[in-house]
Amino acid sequence: MIDYIIVGAGLAGCVLAERIANKLDKKVLIIEKRNHIGGNCFDYKDENNILIHKYGPHLFHTNNKEVVDYLSQFTSWDIYNHEVLCFIDGKKVSIPFNFNTLYEVFPQSKAKALEEKLLSNFEYNSKIPILELKKSEDKDLAFLADYIYDKIFVNYTAKQWGMKPEDMDSAVTARVPVFIGRDNRYFNDKYQMLPANGYTKMIEKMLNHKNIKIMTNTDFKELCSLKEKDFYLFDTKFEGKVIYTGQIDELFDYKFGELPYRSVDMKFETVEKKFYQEKATVNYPNDYDFTRITEFKHIHPTKSDKTTILKEYPQEYRIGVNTPYYPIFTSTNQENYNKYLEYSKEFENLLLVGRLAEYKYYDMDDIVERALEFFKKENFD
Ligand code: UDP
Repeated sequence: MIDYIIVGAGLAGCVLAERIANKLDKKVLIIEKRNHIGGNCFDYKDENNILIHKYGPHLFHTNNKEVVDYLSQFTSWDIYNHEVLCFIDGKKVSIPFNFNTLYEVFPQSKAKALEEKLLSNFEYNSKIPILELKKSEDKDLAFLADYIYDKIFVNYTAKQWGMKPEDMDSAVTARVPVFIGRDNRYFNDKYQMLPANGYTKMIEKMLNHKNIKIMTNTDFKELCSLKEKDFYLFDTKFEGKVIYTGQIDELFDYKFGELPYRSVDMKFETVEKKFYQEKATVNYPNDYDFTRITEFKHIHPTKSDKTTILKEYPQEYRIGVNTPYYPIFTSTNQENYNKYLEYSKEFENLLLVGRLAEYKYYDMDDIVERALEFFKKENFD
């Protein structure tokens, strides 16, 4: 007997499986297309004995204590504050752009004048999205905004999304705001840490329950079908709930057309050196076809004479060829998503949650928060 089918073993699906198994004592079947659990958080030790994040750097950060308390049931933590450099004009400088960056890129007197200008216009320790700063009427601030936009944002965003920052939802570039202060960390959140033995181990522990069965290497549609407004598990009508965390357009056979996603070709390399670069991540907005290089030894310290680096090459998502990583935020795409969302409401026992199913740029803490709230709000019985 299965009470819930969860499609996708990413963070959203796994948090819900754990809650349903532990809190409701109901039986859950997780169906996962890939050969592993953990979705895009999946990590493992590679041939250099370095813990790597297979689907790109995943750095946990949050202000939400409830999320931290929840996850702490399944892992201990290592404190980790992510720092990123950005390669511009032959130099690696601090990013998010902050007062330290001002002094790294401009002569002392110009940097000082700009620092004072920023301080007289914005609060200390505040964050200003680049598209906001670009609206400045003050000529010095307008100059600075154009500089940051041109050197850091426009080409990176063209590589990453194939678009200009202003043609996308402003929340995307606001993730890396100009920082009115001297904090070089990539995130300012109160809690910044990593599961001590990695995400996969944490999620394994979450799923370690007699009520949870997991089928990897299995496409949802190999087991389930949709007839009229009902789900069938093999040939039997499924009376329980289906929590779907995959792509909504795929679920409904692209009925309203394909929803675009952005994909990334992740290319790992072994370098025969103790360390390759100064910080965990270096962004390359204006050079090369990749957007950034991440060196995992900085994230998970390991004794080794070799190091593993990852170069990320953004590309268009193609069905069956590569992995969908990011929904693409334009008003047209959102309207198309809404058609799917409306249609999904006709399926009484279907619940949608997660980055792909909700077509949202959720971070890991957002996903856990969303899944916990979802569990509390939904009438699961
Ligand atoms: N971004 C940029 N230059 C940078 C870093 C970020 O233009 O050096 C923009 C880009 O559009 C990117 C967005 O800010 O997609 C969010 O960056 P973040 O590092 O949060 O991306 P993620 O780690 O989620 O891929």
